[in-house]
Amino acid sequence: MKIMKFGGTSVGKPERMRQVTELITKEAEPKIVVLSALSGTTNALVEIGNSIASGEREQAKQQIDKLEAHYQSFIKELVKKEKTYAKAKAIVAEHFEFLNIILKISFSEALSKDILAQGELLSTKLFCTYLEEQGIDHMLLPALEFMSIDAHDEPQIGSIKVKLSQLLDQNKNKKLFITQGYICRNSRGEVDNLKRGGSDYSASLIAAAINASVCEIWTDIDGMHNNDPRVVKKTVAIEQLSFEEAAELAYFGAKILHPASIWPAQFYKVPVKLLNTMEPEAKGTLITEEAGSVGVKAIAAKDGIIAINIRSSRMLLAYGFLRKIFEVFEKYRTSIDMITTSEVAVSVTIDSTVHLKEILKELEPFGTVETEDNHTIVSIVGNEITQTKDVLSKLFDALIPIPVRMVSYGGSKHNVSLLVPSAYKTQTLQLLNKGLFGLE
Ligand code: ADP
Ligand code: ASP
Ligand code: MG
Repeated sequence: MKIMKFGGTSVGKPERMRQVTELITKEAEPKIVVLSALSGTTNALVEIGNSIASGEREQAKQQIDKLEAHYQSFIKELVKKEKTYAKAKAIVAEHFEFLNIILKISFSEALSKDILAQGELLSTKLFCTYLEEQGIDHMLLPALEFMSIDAHDEPQIGSIKVKLSQLLDQNKNKKLFITQGYICRNSRGEVDNLKRGGSDYSASLIAAAINASVCEIWTDIDGMHNNDPRVVKKTVAIEQLSFEEAAELAYFGAKILHPASIWPAQFYKVPVKLLNTMEPEAKGTLITEEAGSVGVKAIAAKDGIIAINIRSSRMLLAYGFLRKIFEVFEKYRTSIDMITTSEVAVSVTIDSTVHLKEILKELEPFGTVETEDNHTIVSIVGNEITQTKDVLSKLFDALIPIPVRMVSYGGSKHNVSLLVPSAYKTQTLQLLNKGLFGLE
């Protein structure tokens, strides 16, 4: 059995849903198809939630109506037969009625998650209606019946495995299953999600849970590129990556993959393929245990980084000092991405401000604490790059005009990371594209 996940752009227009149908019916192998919300929908739902949260109900109502109008015209183009059109209309009516009801009740965090879930619920139900019109046998597997996270927002892989196997066992005669990406239930049984871009994570978790032959991530680009195509003009697709390389790129900002989406596939040894829905014959990127080649493969950038510097002439040399500092971050479940030390100071970076105030307060007794926000981690990822000749000289030559704040080298064989002020991100990515790949 294989997994095919289609992102927002891949289902964002009726003709794209037709293309997806062609792709999923090409081969006989049974499959679970994981769908995102139509492109733009989750952003619109976030805005609706924000308007409701800030008490701007009239604005929220306008936003809901605008989104509903989009779906009305979408279904008109998607399904043509009277019966299936009536069905699609009823689906749209049901979900927008729900949003309109939410408008009238008092807002809560749990309700905001319910709002966000409407996108994937709509896309999967409408896609199934289209499949029905085409006479394609399929079954909708509700993600809320098997996808779950624990009290720390971590997926419960054991329970996902058991529930999903039960659902598949009960429907042995089916060969094509459709399910929602992104959405899940939390430890309180409420509707929740796997964070933005989480449909990739859903796909990888499902692939791991059923030990799929492959987890295909179909998107709007022909695989992982060597640099961020939103920032740099000339980029090229990479044919092969190891799980480690792909995980580093995803974690350090390559938007094509959710930051946590590689580990389930890696742990359960399911190959991942990144493919382009609009260009299905393109090779794409294969991600397995094998790296394929040695050397630098790609650069990614992660914004919103805060550097925290702790200076203390008295304490830094004492052993146990770093442990005490790390314990503060552990207490607030805030992970550290980069660290550099000298005899009198230590700098760490974090990507979340949720507990920043408390962390800074608890660090105060250790020395002088300073923070710098608006930084970006630029990661250079590849295979055995710390053993590859010239990487460092090329890197530093390329970066002469950039005020690099921190460098992390040697923590893994696959990664060299730099911290730069976010204002220099574009220039850094462009200079590295030229310096490391000869691309301008
Ligand atoms: P989907 O909706 O299919 O999940 P996303 O927008 O989440 O698609 O991810 C695909 C996008 O990721 C591409 O359109 C591209 O702009 C962006 N991207 C960022 N970095 C990379 C990279 N290194 N390689 C490929 N795409 C990247
Ligand atoms: N629809 C969700 C989002 O836009 C999940 C996803 O597309 O992966 O974040
Ligand atoms: Mg995505």
